[in-house]
Amino acid sequence: NDMQESQDRLQARLGRIKHKTAVLSGKGGVGKSTVAVNLAMALREAGNKVGLLDVDIHGPSVPTMLGVEGKLLDGNADGLLPIDCDGLKVMSVGFLLTNQDDAVIWRGPRKMGVIEQFLKDVVWGDLDYLIIDSPPGTGDEPLSVCQLIGSLDGAVIVTTPQKVAAVDVRKSITFCRQLDVPVLGVVENMNGFVCPKCGEITHILSSGGGAKIASDMKVPFLGSLPIDPRVAVAGDSGTPFVRHHAESATAEIMRDIMQPI
Ligand code: ADP
Repeated sequence: NDMQESQDRLQARLGRIKHKTAVLSGKGGVGKSTVAVNLAMALREAGNKVGLLDVDIHGPSVPTMLGVEGKLLDGNADGLLPIDCDGLKVMSVGFLLTNQDDAVIWRGPRKMGVIEQFLKDVVWGDLDYLIIDSPPGTGDEPLSVCQLIGSLDGAVIVTTPQKVAAVDVRKSITFCRQLDVPVLGVVENMNGFVCPKCGEITHILSSGGGAKIASDMKVPFLGSLPIDPRVAVAGDSGTPFVRHHAESATAEIMRDIMQPI
C-alpha cells in the first residue's frame, strides 16, 4: 500500500546516508543555523560527502547563509535535486517559498509532511553526513525530525551563555533522551566579544553557562564560540565563516563535533 511504499522509499534514501545529525536549540536566534551551516561546510572541506537539510520552517536562513536564496528547485524521475553549494548538497524550506518575504503558515500535519518529503523525495545519493537544521524548541517539528529519521546518530544543542537559556538546554536534552537520540554535546555560542582591534574578550552576556549545564546534565561540552563580527558578515554574505578560516578555533570546534561518531 501507499504508506508502506512511502516508508520503503524513506528507508532506501536514509540507508545511503552514513551519519545523520540534527542541530537543535531551545530558542531562536542563538546561532543554530550558523552552527549547522559551518558544521556542514567544515565536514565538506575535510573531504566528506555532506548534505544540509534546513527544516527551520519559520526562519529558513540556510539559503542566505550559503548565498543561494531564490534558487529554483529542479527534479528528475528519482526526485527533487538538492542545490549544490561548492560540493555541499543543500535543501531548504526556503526554496519552496516563491517570495522571500512569504511567511509559512502551515498546520502541524503539513509541516510534518514537508519534512518527510525532504527526507524521502530528495535525491541525496550517498552521503557521509546529513546535517539537519531543525526549528528551535521541543515542538512538532523537531519531534518529526527525530521520529522520521529514527536512526539519528546524535544531536548537537546550541545555546547562549545566559542563565535563562539554560532552562531551554535542559529541555532540549530531556527531549533527546525521551526520544533515544544521543546528545553529541552542547555548543555555547556568543560567549564573549572579541575586540577586533586589541583581541581582548569582553563577556557581554554572563559566561560559562554552557559548560556548567553540560556537566550538570552529563553531556559533552563541545566548546564556546565568541561573538565575532566576521561570523555575522560571513552569514549575510553567503560564504560560511569556516570556508576561509579553516585554522580558526571555530573551524576546529566544528570538525571535532563529529569525532565520536
Ligand atoms: P538561529 O538559527 O538560532 O535562529 P542564526 O544562526 O540565524 O540563529 O544566528 C542569528 C544571527 O546571529 C545571524 O545573523 C548570525 O549571523 C549571527 N551570529 C550567530 N552566531 C554568531 C557569532 N558567533 N558571532 C557573530 N554573529 C553571530
